[in-house]
Amino acid sequence: MSRSRKDNLMTYQIVERLLTPNKFSRPKLPIRTMKGIVIHWVANPMTSAKNNRDFFESRKGGLKSYGSAHEIIDLDGSVYVCIPKNEIAYHVGSNLPYTTGVTQIYTSLTWDKLNTNSSRHTKPYPNNCTYGIETTHLDRDGRMTDATYDTLVERCADLCKEFKLNPMTDIYLHQEVVGWKDCHRWFVNHPLEWIKFKQKVQEISNEDEPMTKVEKEEFDKLKSIVEKQTSIITALHKTIKELQDKDIMKEVPDWSRQAVEAAERARLIDTPANGSYDFYRLLTILWRRGII
Ligand SMILES: [Zn+2]
Repeated sequence: MSRSRKDNLMTYQIVERLLTPNKFSRPKLPIRTMKGIVIHWVANPMTSAKNNRDFFESRKGGLKSYGSAHEIIDLDGSVYVCIPKNEIAYHVGSNLPYTTGVTQIYTSLTWDKLNTNSSRHTKPYPNNCTYGIETTHLDRDGRMTDATYDTLVERCADLCKEFKLNPMTDIYLHQEVVGWKDCHRWFVNHPLEWIKFKQKVQEISNEDEPMTKVEKEEFDKLKSIVEKQTSIITALHKTIKELQDKDIMKEVPDWSRQAVEAAERARLIDTPANGSYDFYRLLTILWRRGII
């Protein structure tokens, strides 16, 4: 954090500009229980929070379909609140399969964690249990100003505390909820930055009780393990891809079937057939050693 906050008081400014209640962007439907915070980018470089808030407002005419968020963080770091916390915003609805080649709508993470339906077979509706934050940004990569980023960290920490959410597991990218959308693009393309972001939120959340020296050492150890694992997984993905492209076998060989199933469960691969001999051999070795 480049900004420091004292006595746990927020350093960002809140500007309340609630949308006029309307069917398309502020339907006044209640949030059930708040299960997560979802981070978005406005996908329109250098536009202000006010511009984007006014766009949500203009949807009330019904000509621009549905869409909104609870708040938008401006280029200068101020927070434009558009929808009260106890009402639904239309920010994570989806009718499309989460990735190519599947029929499931919403990612498995959403089915597991953002589902308020009593039946496990009914499609989740994450709009009714999540808080949506849009961020403004500088360019098409989604790079944010320091002020926007710092507010996003602080704001998420404050909201996690208020909603009793865990910063490491209950803050989602729009992409992680629906699967198919590259939103927030900066974090989608920089997964380590996304982990670091959540760690910063966690640090601020724990400000009341600063970490002891031992806890800090444990935390740093864990962080370096996560970083190492990320690079191992990235290398593994690359190797698997190379092997998959080589000496294709039309069907999964019997001796590799259990390993392939384990790799699918771990989401290391999405197409089990058409791998090479070496590919199945590597998966089997990884599986026998208990790595997947
Ligand atoms: Zn989004």
